[in-house]
Amino acid sequence: MNMDTQVMERAAGSKTHARVNAIFDIELTNRCNARCIMCPRAKTPAMGLMEETTFRKIVTRAVEYGRVESFAMGGLGEPLLHPDVVKFVRIAAQAGFKPCIITNGSLLTRELSEALVEAGIKDLNVSIGGFTRKSYERVHLGLKFQDVYRNAMDFLAAATEKA
Ligand code: SF4
Repeated sequence: MNMDTQVMERAAGSKTHARVNAIFDIELTNRCNARCIMCPRAKTPAMGLMEETTFRKIVTRAVEYGRVESFAMGGLGEPLLHPDVVKFVRIAAQAGFKPCIITNGSLLTRELSEALVEAGIKDLNVSIGGFTRKSYERVHLGLKFQDVYRNAMDFLAAATEKA
């Protein structure tokens, strides 16, 4: 490959990057019901919940930005602790985004799963650190592997029924 070809390919590559859709990653809360050994959450200066007005402002900015496809709710905290999580998923879905939740899975009851699916959730990522039940529970202090596994299966069932 000569120099000109390399330059042209790099230029074509940067054009491709310019078209890539963005993911908004929103932290609904930095509270959590777990104490994972690798988590720096406890060092954050204050704990709280995102206000609905703030969430709506972010959605408006994302609409204005125009290249946002996925609206991920995760960060340093457990989003399912937020009392308005279902409402927020619905707001993001109605604005045309693909709502995604990144969760430790422990609070994902069947009822909540059905509500999230109904509200328009498109992705749900359950964080699992560890190769066995024992190693999982050594990492995710305060959580039970069997509960999280059952909840994830319940969510899959709810999502499949709705599909
Ligand atoms: S579940 Fe996530 S936010 Fe909660 S303690 Fe573990 S790593 Fe931190």
